[in-house]
Amino acid sequence: MSTKYIFVTGGVMSGVGKGVAAASIAKIIQSSGFDVTAIKIDPYVNVDAGTMSPTEHGEVFVLDDGMECDQDMGNYERFLNTSLSSANYMTTGSVYLSVINKERRMEYGGKQVEVVPRIPMEIIERINNAAKKEKAQIVITEIGGTVGEYENLLFLEAIRLLKLKQPKDVCVILVSYVPALGAGGTELKTKPTQHAVRNLNSVGIQPDIILGRASVPLDQKRKEKIQFMCGLEAGDVISAPNVESIYEVAINFEKDNISSRIFKKLALKPKKRDLKEWKAFTDKIKHPKGEVKIGIVGKYFGSGDFILTDSYISVLESVKHAAYFWNQKPVIEWLDSDVYEKNPAKLKELSSFDGIVIPGGFGNRGVEGKIKAIQYCRENKIPFFGLCLGLQLSVIEFARNVVGLKDATSREFEKNCKNAVIDVMPEQKVLLEERHYGGTMRLGAYDCQVQEGAISHKAYKDWVDGAVGPYTISERHRHRYEVNNDYRDELVKNGLVVAGINVKKDLVEIIELQGHPFFVGVQFHPEFKSRPLKPHPLFKEFVRVAVKNKK
Ligand code: GLN
Repeated sequence: MSTKYIFVTGGVMSGVGKGVAAASIAKIIQSSGFDVTAIKIDPYVNVDAGTMSPTEHGEVFVLDDGMECDQDMGNYERFLNTSLSSANYMTTGSVYLSVINKERRMEYGGKQVEVVPRIPMEIIERINNAAKKEKAQIVITEIGGTVGEYENLLFLEAIRLLKLKQPKDVCVILVSYVPALGAGGTELKTKPTQHAVRNLNSVGIQPDIILGRASVPLDQKRKEKIQFMCGLEAGDVISAPNVESIYEVAINFEKDNISSRIFKKLALKPKKRDLKEWKAFTDKIKHPKGEVKIGIVGKYFGSGDFILTDSYISVLESVKHAAYFWNQKPVIEWLDSDVYEKNPAKLKELSSFDGIVIPGGFGNRGVEGKIKAIQYCRENKIPFFGLCLGLQLSVIEFARNVVGLKDATSREFEKNCKNAVIDVMPEQKVLLEERHYGGTMRLGAYDCQVQEGAISHKAYKDWVDGAVGPYTISERHRHRYEVNNDYRDELVKNGLVVAGINVKKDLVEIIELQGHPFFVGVQFHPEFKSRPLKPHPLFKEFVRVAVKNKK
């Protein structure tokens, strides 16, 4: 069969879950026995998401090949239970960059290079490359932003051109917001959606299917109204109400037969879909046998939970996957590290949690409070899991309070410090001095050898069936600083367990403590590899111990 293309665009406003909708559609298509892959397009000029602050754009997700991309790529990987590559992500900046590089190499044969059609053609070529690389029969591409914006026009033009050439191979889905007004919030308004469709029409595109995102399900009358006013066929308006868990979205879409509508548009014979395992998983979420209370200590960004949730989405999902696995309802709370710095008496509240996570981060704001929180978890035997910066701060805490190096710190926080137990790698130092910030950290997948006898060794058995002795796993990285090997012997002598190492470069990857129920720090980001049906082994073990030690 020829490659089939599904495009997901957004109407009315952003932030209504277009990424989750695209990932859920991908899941349904995958469960119908097709080979699918998913692409995310971000219309900004940044070449990738690496140089953007998480408070601006949410979490920076990292792929195996080191691509720093949008958090929606995380949804794709989680929903499809797969690993994607940089071929599945593009931005306006990256598209222009490759067209400009081609021009410099004379690849356009001396012709004038015009924005149209060159940019849309480059976009189509990239979509086809991703399909080829992933051996996909169907490619789902989400276009960031909202129709009517200047920014995504060239991506919409790519859709128009593709559909013009292969009308039976392209299905355009508009995810549109349907506001609910009135006292009870039940009066659904379709007018904004009608305007969004006109916007799409004005660039030569007619949507095939509309997903009506609303706080409540769309009633039949509203569906018919949208269908009639926007020129759709009967059955092509799908209800997308709010749900408690994002994993329910796919099940909901299928209640309105979204897959058979898509297959019809793409002239595909539908295959039997099988969402049984997915359904069982969502049922498990709804019927927990207990709850586990996990605190995440972060720096407070000043605008509340929403920003934190968006910045640490993969960490949150990983905790949830592990909690669901153990039939627990995850109760996750954000804890502001600044508070512990100013008022150490507040640290006591950590005792009311079953486990504490310190996630990744950059810069020195809030680190002293986090170090205090780590000390509290270490001394009071509260299950503790440190991720990337979380490992680095655990090493600093250990060096200060166990080894006795009172001024131990990281080069990141104090350039001229005396005891940089966390230091910058020589190659990273050069990059920093030359201000090469984009895409230059230690990024993507690296091997880690896990040492026998460690907590992690037991946990990772999930991944390395029946291995004995030290074995190798692979995890994703995104950092510039490392444990300074000059201090390693001293740390180990005092009881720090180096449970995982990068053998090639002799770098510390995992640290643990003995005589503590669970004290593990990792230099990588395990949260990028957790899947709903396959929780990450370390998160799984962390939550297991947290549940066992419940207060
Ligand atoms: N800021 C630290 C570093 O660059 C940690 C980064 C992180 O947590 N991702 O090494």
